[in-house]
Amino acid sequence: MIQRTAARIEAHTPENTPPTWQSLLARSVTSPEELLRRLGLDHLRLGQGAQTGHQAFPVRVPEPWLSRIRPGDPDDPLLRQVLPLAAESEEQPGYVRDPLRESDAIPAPGLIRKYRSRALLMVTGQCAINCRYCFRRHFPYPDHRLAPEQRDQVIATLKASPEINEVILSGGDPLAVNDRLLAAWARALATVPSLTRLRIHSRLPIVIPQRVDDALLEWISECPLSLVLVIHVNHPREIDDTVRHALAKLRDAGVTLLNQSVVLRGVNDDTDTLSQLSESLFEAGVLPYYLHAFDPVAGAHHFDVSDDEARILVRELQARLPGYLVPRLVREVPERPGKTLLDVGMEGAGTGQGQATVK
Ligand SMILES: *Cc1c(COP(=O)(O)O)cnc(C)c1O
Ligand code: SF4
Repeated sequence: MIQRTAARIEAHTPENTPPTWQSLLARSVTSPEELLRRLGLDHLRLGQGAQTGHQAFPVRVPEPWLSRIRPGDPDDPLLRQVLPLAAESEEQPGYVRDPLRESDAIPAPGLIRKYRSRALLMVTGQCAINCRYCFRRHFPYPDHRLAPEQRDQVIATLKASPEINEVILSGGDPLAVNDRLLAAWARALATVPSLTRLRIHSRLPIVIPQRVDDALLEWISECPLSLVLVIHVNHPREIDDTVRHALAKLRDAGVTLLNQSVVLRGVNDDTDTLSQLSESLFEAGVLPYYLHAFDPVAGAHHFDVSDDEARILVRELQARLPGYLVPRLVREVPERPGKTLLDVGMEGAGTGQGQATVK
């Protein structure tokens, strides 16, 4: 017995086993000073505004993401997504805490229904990374994990709603949940006759590619529903070899891969970056799906790109890329039943000169 335990401990020493996603998640950098120190930016001092931002929505950066940030560059686009800045504490008129007013559309606990054929299931409030531009920053939700009896209730609601053919797992980040629980959800959802697809919106395969491990691939391969994974990448440098490898495994398991991005000042607000992003995604087997116009979230106005600027960017992408590599520019408008497609027009495409069509 003692010997077996010793053998087990030895087998799990960091020297001879790659780290699990759980250990990488647990070892995330959670202090802004540590983040700067690791990047050789110790000389930078966070002001009071940035500290207040960090207290409201703490820094969380897992190692695999940290390893893709260029050391010594305070303006690195990956760093900008995770580092609190003084601007977070400056009040701006029109920037609100809940720009999407999501609290209104909840028929069963954790189930959000805004569309006829699709229902969104919040399985957790946890994320693997804290993105400074996220509207979640004002709801570090308590753990939204649904209890088993709530699962029964959700399944009953779905069975009584045969017009729903797709369930979307969302959060937080649904892949922050352990695979035993996700497998139980997948099995339960597969008993709903009207469901044909299961969609997962997750940033984890990018942030911690080790998340795509055997346990995940096992329940995914067994799931009788068609699986769609919408990842979230904003900048081409987020995709390195480990990410490509993880995505290839998902593709091999039959998962359809799509990407959504948010257009962000100082991260991807130029046509070169966005077109390189589409190309890199395609190389990794992922098609661009949505480019979200920026939501006016309080504390994130330093990321703001106007709708007109976003329209020009997408028109330039249309001129450069095949249609299937151009993401759809959308915005969520509270009280509207679908995402609103922003009309980018075609006039002056590619010149960057023409005024965008304003709806
Ligand atoms: C975005 C979203 C969906 C999915 O919409 P698609 O246009 O199919 O990607 C579903 N439910 C909610 C609440 C959403 O915000
Ligand atoms: S992973 Fe997604 S939900 Fe979580 S903080 Fe980032 S953008 Fe927001």
